[in-house]
Formats: sequence, C-alpha cells, structure tokens
Amino acid sequence: MTDTIDFTHDASATSWVESANGHPHFPVQNLPLGVFSPSGEGKPRGGMAIGDMILDVAAVADMLEGDAANAARLAGNATLNDLLAKGQGATRKLRQAVFTLLTDDGKKKAVSEALYKAEDCTLHLPVHIGDYTDFYTGIHHATNIGSLFRPDNPLLPNYKYVPIGYHGRTSSVRLSGVNVKRPSGQTKAPDADKPSFGPSKRLDYELEMAIWVGEGNALGEPIPIGEAESHIAGISILNDWSARDIQAWEYQPLGPFLAKNFHSTISPWIVTLDALAPFREAQPARPAGDPAPLDYLSDAEDQAHGAFGVTMEVYLSTAKMREDGEAPHKLSSGPMTAMYWTAAQLVTHHAVGGCNMQPGDLLGTGTLTSGEDGGEGSLIELTEGGKKPISLPNGETRTFLEDGDEVIMVAFAEKDGFARIGLGECRATIIG
Ligand code: CA
Repeated sequence: MTDTIDFTHDASATSWVESANGHPHFPVQNLPLGVFSPSGEGKPRGGMAIGDMILDVAAVADMLEGDAANAARLAGNATLNDLLAKGQGATRKLRQAVFTLLTDDGKKKAVSEALYKAEDCTLHLPVHIGDYTDFYTGIHHATNIGSLFRPDNPLLPNYKYVPIGYHGRTSSVRLSGVNVKRPSGQTKAPDADKPSFGPSKRLDYELEMAIWVGEGNALGEPIPIGEAESHIAGISILNDWSARDIQAWEYQPLGPFLAKNFHSTISPWIVTLDALAPFREAQPARPAGDPAPLDYLSDAEDQAHGAFGVTMEVYLSTAKMREDGEAPHKLSSGPMTAMYWTAAQLVTHHAVGGCNMQPGDLLGTGTLTSGEDGGEGSLIELTEGGKKPISLPNGETRTFLEDGDEVIMVAFAEKDGFARIGLGECRATIIG
C-alpha cells in the first residue's frame, strides 16, 4: 500500500517559496504533477505546483541525483506519460528530492530560476490520455439515478458484484477552464410518440474523481488486487458533463453514448498517492446483507487503507451572479469515501480479463453522492429529476444548467497532525 509516512509529510516543514506555507492546496507537502508552459512562447513541460508558483521540474534535474534526476528529465516532456510509466518509485523519489530542494534555504537562489508565477503560465492536459473509463462506484448516486430511470428496480443485481463502468471518450477531455458547448441530440419526451432533435434542455454536471493509471500491464496479464495500487499514479477532479434528456432516450441497451461524449473536464494537477498517504482510510464496511467481493477483488490491506479521505465540493456561479459580483454558491459537498469499490478494485477488475492498462489512462469514479442531504453529486439528484428547482441566494432558480452557468469543483484532504493539501479546482462555463 502507498500509505507510508515520511519526512515529506512533516506538518511543520516550510518552504522558502513563501506562498506555499499555509497554501490551501499546494503546500510543500503536496507537490502535484502537471504540464505547463511559461507565459507566451514556452514549450509545454512537466511542472509541480508549489504555492502560487510552478516549478519547471526538468530545469532542476542537474541538482538532483540518481532516480530522482532521471525522473526529473522525463518530466521535461510535453506529457507525463513516460514519467508515470516508470511507476511510483520514480515519482516518489522525485517528490522527495524536490521537497528537499524547496525546503533548503541554501538552494533558493539556484532553484528560483526554475520557478514561474502560476498566473502567468498556461496549463495543459498532464498526459496523453489513451483510454478513459468511467465507473459507477457511487452507490447512493446509482440508487438515486436508478430510482428516476427505473422506479421499480433502482439498483440492478450485478451492482454489488461487478464494478460497473463504460468505456468513455478521450478526444473530448479538456482541462479546467475550457468552455463547454451545450450538446444537441435526440430526445424524446415521455408523452411524445417520436423523438426530436435539438439542444439538450437537461444539461447536468457529475462530481467525480479521476484516477490516473501509472505503470501499465501487458495484454493478457491481469493485475492482482494486492498489486493494483502500484499501478495508480494519483488522482484529480473530474466533471463528467451529462445531457440527461439525451441519456434517457439512448442509454438502453448499451449505456451512455452522446449524452456524455461531448466534453469532460479534469483539474490540472495529478496529486500523487505519496502526497495522499496521510489521508488514506479504511474502505467503509458494506451494509449488512451485501455480498462480499469475489476473491479476485478481495484484499485485507486494500480494505484497511484503500479509501481516500478527500472532501469534494461543487459550486455554481451564474452569469448574473458574476455580473453582480456575488461569490459562487455551494451546491453540495461530500467525501470520496462514497465509493462502493476502492480504486485498487477498479484497476484489478478493469484488467482481469486481460485488458492492458496504459500509463495516463483515466478512470472516473462515477458520481460521488454522499447519501446525506447536501451531498448530491449532480443536479438531477438535487432537483429530483428536475421536478424541484433549487433556489440560489439571489433568487434565481435552476433545474438544470443554463448558458453562462459556471460549475466549480474543488477537493482537498485534511487531518489533524498533517498539512492540508488540495487538488485545486475543476471549473468550466456552459455556452450555447
Ligand atoms: Ca459519470
């Protein structure tokens, strides 16, 4: 398991990068990986977020040694796939070595030349995403959605045995900040005798987390559950935009298609499992009467430490709110422990038939709804299928998203005795 605490988790450690100390997302205890280009002309390259700055990782390679130096050089590429392919050992050594540089006052002068103000940089997708699979691990979400689509039969009998997922679309994955064009498609009102074509009227977000595959496996060679975590590089925030009216008409018998392939948004930074080590938790016990996972998905260590103590939040900012200078309104929040399956179980299940996972593959957790009021991970749940509009503080109401609406997701981990770390934010605005 990747929950070893070391000197990089020392809550009292501070950096000579002043903005990092007490930073809600990027203190020196985090050091997430991303790809950026400095203002204007610079080529995309790997970086680490530190406070309000970004470190050009390859630019400090000559100050590092051994595996850390090799990893830093791989981070000089325009995507991080080659670095992630080297596995957790490489990113761990790199994070430890950069932590040492950024906490050693003696290195300030030399390393400062490799630091850029984040606000002056352009961020890019951190990896070339070969494949994207979206799972459905949020059991409260699955039950809520199932109740809307199939009132008599909300949770199908396979749910508690099989980590349900579908193969998604990578070409339309975009970074936080890219506008989302409202999709058009076929929809059919329940009382209509045939479908019509037009812009979706029931556009929704889905609050999810992204799990990034690091080291891959060969075709035909499954990943045992006890080794699955070593194939995970880290996590980010994912918004799986969903057109509910298109979904309702197309989803049977093969699942989501155009309702979800028009755009997906991810946050820019990959927070490594090493940074998350202090925040690992036991997988919540299954409710009494639920079946135990089959043997190939069962591992005592995974059950003891396989969940993530990460809090997720979603905010809405309408065009009018921005015009009036009002702050975004929090719609909901909840824990990542709402996953019915662990990240390791998702990796093992995905590969169990012999499917080869590749560095930079994206696995979505599925919408994570907490099961408590205020923990709904989508508007279709908040508004009970669009029947109960929600009211915003300025008097506006919403059932689904309107043009000009900006959805902002944030996530963070905090625990007594450790520095809080964050995943940054995942935001995008709907345009017509
Ligand atoms: Ca989803």
